[in-house]
Amino acid sequence: MKSYDIIVIGAGIAGASVAAHLAATRRVAVLEMENRPGFHSTGRSAASYEPNYGPPAMLALTRASESFFREPPKGFAEAPLLTSRESLFLVTEGQEEACEKLIAKANELGELSERAAREIFPVLRPGHAKRVLLDPNTGDLDVDLIHSGYLRLLRERGGQVFTDHEVKGLLYRDWKWQVATPHGIYTSPMIVNAAGAWADTIAKLGGVAPIGLQPKRRSIGVVPVTGHDDLEDWPLVTDAGETWYCKPQSGKLIVSSADATPVDPHDAYADDMAIATGIDRLMQATTLTVDRLHHSWGGLRSFVRDGQPVVGFAPDQEGFFWLAGQGGYGIQSSPALSETAASLILGTPLPDSVVAQGLDIKDISPRRLTHS
Ligand SMILES: Cc1cc2nc3c(=O)[nH]c(=O)nc-3n(C[C@H](O)[C@H](O)[C@H](O)COP(=O)(O)OP(=O)(O)OC[C@H]3O[C@@H](n4cnc5c(N)ncnc54)[C@H](O)[C@@H]3O)c2cc1C
Repeated sequence: MKSYDIIVIGAGIAGASVAAHLAATRRVAVLEMENRPGFHSTGRSAASYEPNYGPPAMLALTRASESFFREPPKGFAEAPLLTSRESLFLVTEGQEEACEKLIAKANELGELSERAAREIFPVLRPGHAKRVLLDPNTGDLDVDLIHSGYLRLLRERGGQVFTDHEVKGLLYRDWKWQVATPHGIYTSPMIVNAAGAWADTIAKLGGVAPIGLQPKRRSIGVVPVTGHDDLEDWPLVTDAGETWYCKPQSGKLIVSSADATPVDPHDAYADDMAIATGIDRLMQATTLTVDRLHHSWGGLRSFVRDGQPVVGFAPDQEGFFWLAGQGGYGIQSSPALSETAASLILGTPLPDSVVAQGLDIKDISPRRLTHS
């Protein structure tokens, strides 16, 4: 048996980032079922940083993460983690209420005339939007750099990552977990459940009450755009009702109908109908004609009923820590979320940046779900 202070299950962004913090003072192992870290949600995101997107706790954690992305610790990454890209919110017929909700929770949203909007997004179809809002503080994240930065930090601190190690059994006995994998049993007094869409599956293995996690599939299509030399400078464009979005990526445009189809945890693939709907909405909102799909992918965004993340010790089981339910915001919030989780695990004060953003720990505690 291999023995550690803490075992983290899952090597996506959640597991990698919290493990990196914990490894500074604890012996940490990360167990990952796939043959490489980041195979599931982390490797399939739209890679956006949107500080006005998400439920209240996620807004606080995302905003508290900005300084890390803009100025990561020395040696964390050799290129910028966050590159600015503005976002446009188109408010179409019937989206007035959604628009008011957006304005109520957002910081620093500006309003643009259609003409001004067309200066930064020249293909906007005239008359399509009743109003256009601009968020100047959004950007593109380099997910691979962020994820690999945390994995490197973890290893530098003596932590270990074991791939092809699916957790198949969990037993808590004599104040220790026995974690069964195809390569033997690992033990530790504490496990961190960072298994993404499978977090409830892990809980059930250990006899812990599930949190009601629902994975939802989202599909992204990549389409070629010709005749627009300024494509890379276009903003992310969405509508106030979040029914579609597009943004430039590597010389093409990614487009999604913002689908959120409830599914069981699995290796997700794109839904053709959802992609077609996204392209149709893109063509309604713009003067672009799309006649070819370059490629597509699908991924899972996992939510509990109130949409807020689940971070804290299970109320019904010693030594079991939840780090789940990051929905569509798990990358943009990862620096502050992982620091917060590590401070709860180690019993140290919450990070100042998170306190300054007004995060209420009760809003992310698993107690709100299992004891209500
Ligand atoms: C299409 C799409 C677009 C998105 N866009 C954005 C965006 O623009 N910005 C943003 O911030 N977020 C975005 N997200 C959300 C973001 O990707 C997720 O919130 C985040 O990746 C979740 O990270 P995770 O580590 O919890 O999950 P995962 O990356 O899925 O990691 C969980 C890991 O646990 C492992 N695992 C599961 N079961 C076991 C087991 N039994 N044993 C061992 N290992 C196990 C899995 O193999 C997996 O590697 C998007 C998501 C999708 C799908």
